Amino acid sequence: MGRALITGGAGFLGSHLCELFLSRGHEVICMDNLITGNPANVSHLLGQPGFSFIRYDVTNYIHCEGPLDYVLHFASPASPIDYLEKPIQTLKVGSLGTHKTLGVAKDKKARYLIASTSEVYGDPLVHPQKEDYWGNVNPVGPRGVYDEAKRFAEAMTMAYHRFHGVDTRIVRIFNTYGPRMRVKDGRVVPAFISQALRNEPLTVFGDGSQTRSFCYVTDLIEGIYRLLMSDEVQPTNIGNPNEMTVLQFAQEIKRLTGTSAPIEFLPLPEDDPKIRRPDISKARALLSWEPKVPLAEGLQKTIDYFRTVVGR
Ligand code: UDP
Repeated sequence: MGRALITGGAGFLGSHLCELFLSRGHEVICMDNLITGNPANVSHLLGQPGFSFIRYDVTNYIHCEGPLDYVLHFASPASPIDYLEKPIQTLKVGSLGTHKTLGVAKDKKARYLIASTSEVYGDPLVHPQKEDYWGNVNPVGPRGVYDEAKRFAEAMTMAYHRFHGVDTRIVRIFNTYGPRMRVKDGRVVPAFISQALRNEPLTVFGDGSQTRSFCYVTDLIEGIYRLLMSDEVQPTNIGNPNEMTVLQFAQEIKRLTGTSAPIEFLPLPEDDPKIRRPDISKARALLSWEPKVPLAEGLQKTIDYFRTVVGR
């Protein structure tokens, strides 16, 4: 079925991708420097036939033994707090890491997929966001290190496609949640769930009127797999169009956990996008894909996971 190199394979999305690839009969080389990844995310895969783990920083030259059919570049800090704490690593893995992983794909004649993001749309002036929207990004704000690195990564991917003929795919990933998110990564899903489970106030930033649209991880990973196996070179949104305000989301977490914790309002971080919702008509038409897991069901699974790790 082919051999895949998955960078960031010990992260939240990377580890779910490793699982899906193994379950579909692929061999998987999981590469991660573990600055935000966690070996526990893939410890159950170690020893499984066809799986190997290499601890490595993919901003350096990558040497990979043997043939490769797929390269998926998922290594990157991915939460606003992570990119504030690791701005240079974020820029490097999106730029140098994309260059190095594209180099491997070219050398091995492998198909390449870059994990891009809804952040390329910045604080969007078009709603919902369609792939042909070029975005509204502040290059010098705190989120610029992530947004611009991913925009550069898309440009580099298209350059390798056009100039070197590498077979490439670009997925723009919208807010995704599920088991294996880091409790302290600062994103809204782990923040609210861990606060609710500890009976601490749920910290809503701003007045909570900003919107997001949350996709359960298994839906997202299936969409990415279908995109990889399709012929589509241009960027494709994968996410769930079920949009809600952050305040509504906090109330949903309160309802599902049954916590009596109050909601606390804190200042809105700089450049926090006011609205976000993917237009997924392209993925629907091209990949016959759409998300299936309802929010309450996905959140229940995520809450069950967080019950096992909160407090550790
Ligand atoms: N947010 C919040 N409280 C938190 C963490 C996040 O209200 O404790 C808000 C944040 O300001 C943003 C939304 O939730 O409007 C989603 O934030 P997240 O960090 O998950 O990712 P983003 O979509 O901004 O990349």
